[in-house]
Amino acid sequence: LQDGLSSALKSLSGQGKLTEANMREGLKLVERSLLEADVSFEVARYFMKNVTEKAVGETVLKSLKPQQQVVGIVYQELCDLMGPVDHSLHLKGKNDVTVLMLCGLQGAGKTTTVGKLGKMLKAGQRNPLLVAADLQRPAAIDQLHVLGEQLGLPVYSDREEKDPVKVCNAAIKEAKKLGADVVILDTAGRLHIDEELMGQLERIDKQCSPEQIYLTVDAMTGQDAVNSAKAFNDALEIDGVIMTKLDGDARGGAALSVKHVTGVPIKFMGTGEKLEALEPFHPDRMAQRILGQGDILTLFETAQKEFDQEQMLAQEEKLKKGEFTLDDFRKQMSMIAKPGLMQKMMGMMPGMGQMREAMNDFDESEMKGLFGIIDSMTPAEKANTKLIDQSRRRRIAAGAGCEPHQVNELIKQYDAMAQVMTAMAGKGMRDRMKMMGE
Ligand code: GDP
Ligand code: MG
Repeated sequence: LQDGLSSALKSLSGQGKLTEANMREGLKLVERSLLEADVSFEVARYFMKNVTEKAVGETVLKSLKPQQQVVGIVYQELCDLMGPVDHSLHLKGKNDVTVLMLCGLQGAGKTTTVGKLGKMLKAGQRNPLLVAADLQRPAAIDQLHVLGEQLGLPVYSDREEKDPVKVCNAAIKEAKKLGADVVILDTAGRLHIDEELMGQLERIDKQCSPEQIYLTVDAMTGQDAVNSAKAFNDALEIDGVIMTKLDGDARGGAALSVKHVTGVPIKFMGTGEKLEALEPFHPDRMAQRILGQGDILTLFETAQKEFDQEQMLAQEEKLKKGEFTLDDFRKQMSMIAKPGLMQKMMGMMPGMGQMREAMNDFDESEMKGLFGIIDSMTPAEKANTKLIDQSRRRRIAAGAGCEPHQVNELIKQYDAMAQVMTAMAGKGMRDRMKMMGE
């Protein structure tokens, strides 16, 4: 994927303005990259629809390069879809017993994650009891006992009992005796979804009423993760997802798919076999991973650097000499001719508070008015506004079809901007523009 999306976005660059045509092609490449990241077909299609709608709405943006817009929209959309964040285990008070149930396919990492949660809870001054409710294989019980010993945590198991529901109920009673306040049920899995397993899990859900049911999903399973997540969620109404094996070369797409089909928060991610390898899930980091393992930031920076660099260098040279003409002002204005964008940019640029005030309520029709005024000036007047006296002001106003005081206001705005621009040039325009990107 990394290569896929990065090159997809690169291929969008240098094409000037974002048009419907070049965007459609670029978005197609983005879609292919999502699929390469193991996002399911269905989810990728939904995602593209959303992103396209948003991008089309922003095609009027004239001041940004296409790749900046697309990167921004794709990234934001990924974050939105994989959020919001909820890392809470919804534990009851310490005098109660909170039951957490883990489910998932065989090998997804349930037993390991039970151990990880146990360790985390113990560190949080809780007293967890681990419950071996996977009666599928005798080895599963042993595995949990080994973890319990490693962690110094009690493990409940019953090698004679054949019904996992009875084991869970007995364990909850035992928890009260032991003074444990959290019970974590390690249930059985299968290689594939089957009715017997689902029936068993539904019975545990009904008869033991766990506060939270978490689905453990192996991030490496990619496309398959969607189907199993859907089946588990239909049967159990899961409360959260824990993605495992994100330390390997899983491409992260499963996180987007599973979040989309279940709608429940992704709580944690497993990043290794060791018991401390459990981390809270962060949509933004996963979005970066899907877009190329942190590459996106570099991409933003690159895009920012390329951002009209030539024009900027030329501008910088002029500004260093203290030159910022009304023509430059006009160019600057047309670059940011989108309502709201001006304020946004001003907000990102330090020291531009006054400009933001001046630019409040600034819209495109006003912009045309401003341009009309500038266009009614002679080159000499544009180069030096001090030349503009009362009679010149009247002439310009008549030419532009406005009131003389509006000519004055324009000159005031220009003076304010010239001041800031010249000051910025002193500190290094490129640095400032970079800050804007951040
Ligand atoms: P279960 O069948 O769902 O209980 O899965 P297990 O907990 O037994 O885990 C299956 C395998 O996956 C074991 O070898 C674990 O060590 C490994 N495993 C579990 N979680 C992770 C993880 O986050 N990263 C890695 N690399 N391996 C994991
Ligand atoms: Mg297991």
